[in-house]
Amino acid sequence: VNRKDAEGLDRADDLAPFRARFELAERPIYMDGNSLGPPSSAVAAALTRAAREWQDDLVEGWETWIDRPGTVGDRLGRLLGAADGQVLVCDSTTVNLYKLAWAAIAHQAGRRVIVAEAGDFPTDRYVLQGLAETHGLQLRLVETRGDDPEGALEKAMDSDTALVCLSHVHFRTGRKLAADRLTAAAHDRGALILWDLAHSAGSVPVDLDGWEADLAVGCTYKHLNAGPGSPGFLYVRRSLQDDLRQPIWGWFGQDNQFEMETAYRPRPGIGSFLAGTPGILSLAAVDAAVALVQSAGPIRLYAKAERMTRLLFESARERLVPLGADIITPKDPTRRGAHVSVSHPRAWPWCRALIDRRLVVADFRTPDVIRLGPGSLYSRFVDCYDAVEAMAQVMEDGFPDAAVRRRVT
Ligand SMILES: *Cc1c(COP(=O)(O)O)cnc(C)c1O
Repeated sequence: VNRKDAEGLDRADDLAPFRARFELAERPIYMDGNSLGPPSSAVAAALTRAAREWQDDLVEGWETWIDRPGTVGDRLGRLLGAADGQVLVCDSTTVNLYKLAWAAIAHQAGRRVIVAEAGDFPTDRYVLQGLAETHGLQLRLVETRGDDPEGALEKAMDSDTALVCLSHVHFRTGRKLAADRLTAAAHDRGALILWDLAHSAGSVPVDLDGWEADLAVGCTYKHLNAGPGSPGFLYVRRSLQDDLRQPIWGWFGQDNQFEMETAYRPRPGIGSFLAGTPGILSLAAVDAAVALVQSAGPIRLYAKAERMTRLLFESARERLVPLGADIITPKDPTRRGAHVSVSHPRAWPWCRALIDRRLVVADFRTPDVIRLGPGSLYSRFVDCYDAVEAMAQVMEDGFPDAAVRRRVT
């Protein structure tokens, strides 16, 4: 790989004009779109409009605001292969995961096992641990080393399995699971499946209805670029909606909410999965962010992500592996999400040096992983090339052991 190749890819990139909608500095190169997407002018403008609406309408605004979790959810659903009435934008991913996993377990009374992946994102494992403990269930955490993670997961599912909960794209390695195959495997055994789409939404094709998925959750602040702490989303297959009960009996899930009746009576349909007052300002950001992703088109976004991860993978193999790094992302491009991860014993101080020298903002994951997460809307192929070159340069020049490790997300 050389820089000319990357420049050629940029010239042929039909998504290149989208970069102008983000105010990104030339340096450091932003490679952390899988942790926090950058702001677009569309999202910034939507936030300003929402603040104005609040000022103008005050409490009357609730006339229209109240439906936003569902209307924005429908728009997001179109991006995720979900027909209307199955997606809500509300709460955080963690809270949504809890609500849906709880609902699935209650629905599957008698079955005693939850299947998940041993190396999955902490919040997913913790929520499932908590549920297993309070419901007296067994949490079966599957090790998925090797190139047949689906096989290992299928082997762990049996007729006692209530719920299978998996990340579509793995946060640490960027490995993408065969969602349709695993969904069918769970159903074969009578289990429900819950997909975490945190690293998929806005980056790789998702086809919830096509997969025949039961449940899903995900984030809007990663590849959807809706801003720090923007709300999560949830999906419940239509045919399950009236059979499932979620654990938080809040007033937004109540039928005829403003009658304020004594007894809790859940709304029909997806609305019963709401809990409390939605964040209208950040919903405005999600709406604009999803519209921008939709205008680029999920197929084109993924095609570019695939080319970018290919470039990252090839350059890392040429430049970083000889310096002692390992690429932990699958070699097969069809099994990758939108980020590429390398491991190295000095990953933390290396990552720190790249940030301190204002070269690359990448993302460290304990104990030894650096993730490179470009965004198809705003990253250039030369950014991918230059980021790996900078990593190699810093490694060759040497860097100090960084002292304190402080990282939030
Ligand atoms: C980022 C991420 C989350 C984040 O959950 P929050 O409730 O938004 O903090 C959850 N699951 C996975 C797999 C993630 O990558």
